[in-house]
Amino acid sequence: MKAHDAMYIGGRWRPAAGQDTIAVVNPADEQVIGHVPAGTAEDVDTAVRAARDAFTGWAATPPAERAAKIGALRDVLVARKDEIAETVTAELGAPLGFSQMVHAGVPILVAGSYAELAATYSFEEKVGNSTVLLEPVGVVGAITPWNYPLHQIVAKVAPALAAGCTVVLKPAEDTPLTAQLFAEAVDEAGIPAGVFNLVTGLGPVAGQALAEHEGVDLVSFTGSTAVGKQIGATAGAAVKRVALELGGKSANVILPSADLAKAVGVGIANVMGNSGQTCSAWTRMLVHEDQYDEAVATAAAAVAKYTVGDRVGPLVNAKQQARVRGYIEKGVEEGARVVAGGPEAPLDKGYYVAPTVFADVTPEMTIAQEEIFGPVVSILKYTDEAEALRIANGTVYGLAGAVWAADDAEAVAFARRMDTGQVDINGGRFNPLAPFGGYKQSGVGRELGSHGLSEYLQTKSLQF
Ligand code: NAP
Ligand code: MG
Repeated sequence: MKAHDAMYIGGRWRPAAGQDTIAVVNPADEQVIGHVPAGTAEDVDTAVRAARDAFTGWAATPPAERAAKIGALRDVLVARKDEIAETVTAELGAPLGFSQMVHAGVPILVAGSYAELAATYSFEEKVGNSTVLLEPVGVVGAITPWNYPLHQIVAKVAPALAAGCTVVLKPAEDTPLTAQLFAEAVDEAGIPAGVFNLVTGLGPVAGQALAEHEGVDLVSFTGSTAVGKQIGATAGAAVKRVALELGGKSANVILPSADLAKAVGVGIANVMGNSGQTCSAWTRMLVHEDQYDEAVATAAAAVAKYTVGDRVGPLVNAKQQARVRGYIEKGVEEGARVVAGGPEAPLDKGYYVAPTVFADVTPEMTIAQEEIFGPVVSILKYTDEAEALRIANGTVYGLAGAVWAADDAEAVAFARRMDTGQVDINGGRFNPLAPFGGYKQSGVGRELGSHGLSEYLQTKSLQF
């Protein structure tokens, strides 16, 4: 893996202000694979100035030209997709096939969707005797996590650029090489200097400096609820726009009429992908009491196919591994029954956690309430639809979910009553144009598609 000993600011790679670096570790074998600069408030300030200088020109660039540049960026991502997959696998640990399909594939789809949207979106509306102009918000400070390292960058940068905003990105300290590769792609695509800037560094240093910088007009954050609350408060105090994409504890609701084997199998796969490090993962499986034992047996058999090190990668770092194992111990302590996996580390080397299924989980247990962010599924029992709905809605989160029934209409009727931002009906496919984001404490704002684009726009009304 190539690591730049520099920041991408104002269209070139330049040395950081300080000397500190961050070691990048491969979580599968615990080897250091590179070092990147640990940026400081000074680097953030330089990057924000570069983004500010570039803003007027980029905002005035016709949408069709912005679209062409985003299209060129997409083409570079396509040309370099194998390198992207290898980089994500090296620093995150995801199996290579998953990296190719999801970590490289989805950002290409999303970048393509914004090349198209930038060209077709109406940046002007008529309302009675008014013309409403939709104008870019300004300089965006983007702070991203490590779990879908390129997707989360593209889901912020592509719509921001489509809107006419310029960006400073602070990626997660665990996955900076993917972010550096993205910066190379931006450069190769011919996106003008200063439109996109990268500052690698630690959250409480570079991230906080970016969130607090008075030259930033909008902060878009994806990550933990704890940090998100802090960023929301900082932005609120400065009357700054903020978008927060936080945690989840999504419910996979299997109604009695559903194809049980299919619903359980897809549900297990949904959590095991990316080693359970997915904010929208369906980590609570809700099953009718009459089908409960069958569902538990099916889930245990399904999870046995997820061999560690092959189909399921490690967690991103030792801290996440310890945290997830701690949650599994907590589940046992609170009386849940382990039917697969458990707290013991399955391999001597690498930050692996055994794919784990818990039965006899009740709604108030910690493992039914808190985001675990690992390959752990909790199976809960309900007696009727009203109880299923109470359980489904009974957490502080509301990011995603699933409903399974014999026909879509029955599932949709249930989904309408769920307090959550996305629901997959009978295994519906991922749609890169559908708005993604949270109800309740799962966040503020939406990403993807035209809803994601509008986050980066502000309105000006002209009356005639
Ligand atoms: P995190 O600390 O919230 O990290 C997200 C991003 O915010 C990273 O770039 C991080 O930098 C940065 N950051 C951290 N503290 C900051 C601060 N004070 N000001 C500004 N930026 C700051 O998340 P984490 O510690 O990596 O993961 C912890 C838990 O968060 C996970 O177990 C999971 O439950 C949840 N999580 C959720 C998502 C999601 O998609 N919703 C993604 C990741 C994690 P550093 O990389 O230097 O910390
Ligand atoms: Mg952190």
